[in-house]
Amino acid sequence: MEASTNKIPTILIAGAGIGGLSFYHSVRKNLGKKFNVKIFDRETSPQDRWQGHNIYINKKGVTSLFYCTPAEVQDRFPEAMPDPISKEYHTIMIVDHIGRQLFYLPQQKTKSLYEIESLNHDYAGVISYRNKLREVLLEGADIQWGKKCIGYEECDNGVWILFEDGTREFGDLLIGADGVNSPIRKQKIPNLEINDLGLTSIDVDVAIPKNLADRLMSIYSNVLIQQSLGLNGDSFFSYLRLIPIDQSEEPFYRLTIGYSYPTNLDIKENISIDDNDPESVMKHAISRIKQLRPPCELTDLFIELLSLVPFSHPGEKYPYRTYNPPRRRQFRDIDPLSVPSWKNDRVVLLGDAVHAMNPLLGLGANNAIQDADLLTKELLNYENDGLTKCIQRYNEQMRVRSSRDVIASRKTALRQKVPLGNMDLIVRNSMFKVTFMVYYIIIFIKTLFLRMYKSYL
Ligand SMILES: Cc1cc2nc3c(=O)[nH]c(=O)nc-3n(C[C@H](O)[C@H](O)[C@H](O)COP(=O)(O)OP(=O)(O)OC[C@H]3O[C@@H](n4cnc5c(N)ncnc54)[C@H](O)[C@@H]3O)c2cc1C
Repeated sequence: MEASTNKIPTILIAGAGIGGLSFYHSVRKNLGKKFNVKIFDRETSPQDRWQGHNIYINKKGVTSLFYCTPAEVQDRFPEAMPDPISKEYHTIMIVDHIGRQLFYLPQQKTKSLYEIESLNHDYAGVISYRNKLREVLLEGADIQWGKKCIGYEECDNGVWILFEDGTREFGDLLIGADGVNSPIRKQKIPNLEINDLGLTSIDVDVAIPKNLADRLMSIYSNVLIQQSLGLNGDSFFSYLRLIPIDQSEEPFYRLTIGYSYPTNLDIKENISIDDNDPESVMKHAISRIKQLRPPCELTDLFIELLSLVPFSHPGEKYPYRTYNPPRRRQFRDIDPLSVPSWKNDRVVLLGDAVHAMNPLLGLGANNAIQDADLLTKELLNYENDGLTKCIQRYNEQMRVRSSRDVIASRKTALRQKVPLGNMDLIVRNSMFKVTFMVYYIIIFIKTLFLRMYKSYL
């Protein structure tokens, strides 16, 4: 399989999410003279689907984003990833069911994305507005909207992408960046299955007033990625930025919440919830919290936060949409190493399409962006090595890296799903203490060596 001679080969990308768009920009920036690129998305316009959630972009994700994107996109990064302000700690803190600290991941405090990129270690990152990040990545991208891919056809000299509207396009390489339900993956690797982790999650975005943000920040000591572990396999996640989203007297802040609990509770109790009715879903989330959590200040705060979720579109009060119909969703993942390696042909997978992972460790988008970076770097060599070799090297590295993160995220979720007795609590709390010490020592040593190295230079 090689690109046909005498013409510039064309790359087709299915899916204009974070992964597909990063790769699109990267081809144009880094491979511009070697390849043409076209990108398609099933949505009818950029506003079609809610792209909310605060998400954590780690040092590797930031570095790859800089590699993939041109200056005009990078100039807009502060809209999506505003520089950390002094009181914000862009890291994770875990507390127990009544708010006692269990774990805190030490991180280097940085003032901007540029500082993160230039660090020689990985312990830094930034909370970004996912919808804004996508908006910024749409800058200068010529997306063909309303093109729902339903599969592909390979032939000797190329590949056709097939769309639901009956049309098709021809190219030399097809990139499936079409998310967890990717039809391209299902056709290419039918035995690479989605794994259900037995946890149900309700994810929402809310605008919270300053007094609630202050209460959260005092529990979590100004750490922005916050998790409270319940005793019954449930967990309350919140991602906050302390940048006001409006100019009112009591400012509002943007908060993402994810409340998860074991799915078998819903099955056992045979409850009926209308997932198309936001009120029904939120009433259910609140009643689960009341059922699984002890009455205490923290539980009251969580209920208060969930009560702010709008049941209908509130209009344009905030500069972003807080309303996204809440639904119950399952934690699912795809481990690319769960099947033997697949054919290194003209059809290549990237992002959630090939390695979806649950959000607990905040690694899904970071992996999608790293895929875009890696695939570009491999394709830089295609004239000497040929497409097959480049894609083989991409697949090998992508599978190992992303599988590691899928499994780490899966283990975290499965551990949290188990209800805890008194003995389990002692073991869990000790494990967190040991993990904290290990991280602390690693970061201390890395920072020390780095300083010594710099002063030596
Ligand atoms: C609550 C929550 C919190 C998260 N937090 C983090 C975090 O902190 N850090 C992190 O790194 N990750 C996080 N993630 C995961 C992250 O959002 C995903 O891993 C990331 O969006 C994957 O990007 P992608 O481009 O591969 O896929 P997607 O973002 O799913 O994009 C796929 C694109 O393909 C399009 N598409 C789908 N089907 C078709 C089709 N048939 N034809 C054409 N186009 C199609 C879609 O419209 C979409 O635009 C979180 C996820 C959730 C749900």
